[in-house]
Amino acid sequence: MTDTAERKMRFLYALRSRGVTDTRVLTAMERIDRGAFVKGLFADRAYEDMPLPISCGQTISQPSIVGLMTQALSVTPRDKVLEIGTGSGYQAAILSQLARRVYTVDRHRRLVREAQDLFQALNLTNITAFTADGSFGLPDQAPFDRIIVTAAAEDAPGPLLAQLKIGGIMVLPVGQSDTVQSLIKVTRHETGFDYEELRPVRFVPLVEGLGPE
Ligand code: SAH
Repeated sequence: MTDTAERKMRFLYALRSRGVTDTRVLTAMERIDRGAFVKGLFADRAYEDMPLPISCGQTISQPSIVGLMTQALSVTPRDKVLEIGTGSGYQAAILSQLARRVYTVDRHRRLVREAQDLFQALNLTNITAFTADGSFGLPDQAPFDRIIVTAAAEDAPGPLLAQLKIGGIMVLPVGQSDTVQSLIKVTRHETGFDYEELRPVRFVPLVEGLGPE
């Protein structure tokens, strides 16, 4: 077996052993090559289960966390999904395999541009990326069946709750500090929201306004 094939097999094994068991999610993660989303010095560590640095001082999340969040989101092929925190574009690319349409937003123009180039190169035509402050969601495209936030806020932002369809699911990290955060799953019902705490996590913070580049 080639080195790359073996590393990919280990990658999938690590996902399964950390609780990513949904076959559709595993297939999507097998299809989307994380190596394409990591550049420079760290490229040869793309198949390790760890977060890695990307442009603008941000990080591409740990693959098992990407898998667990995607799994918790229960995406169906009819869904319109919103992601806040495009970063490298990796999470959006995985969602594109599972959903009808993916909108992704980042406050850094440069990250959005780089991710758009990758989506085009990989022929992922059902993703639209915008530069914006994602705390306000995307009112023009709302409501959404699923919302995923990949940066941590103190609480679920009100505009995102408002842009979630009834029956919709949102998965996001929340917490008051950089070190103690919980991944939560919010489900919208006819009369309100249900909150379920999934596990401790550590994400970069959700920051107000647009980035400098
Ligand atoms: N999902 C990404 C990882 C995201 S890292 C991936 O798969 O690679 C978190 C991202 O959230 C960063 O790129 C950061 O710029 C972005 N971010 C932080 N605050 C934001 C905000 N208010 N609106 C939009 N994006 C934000």
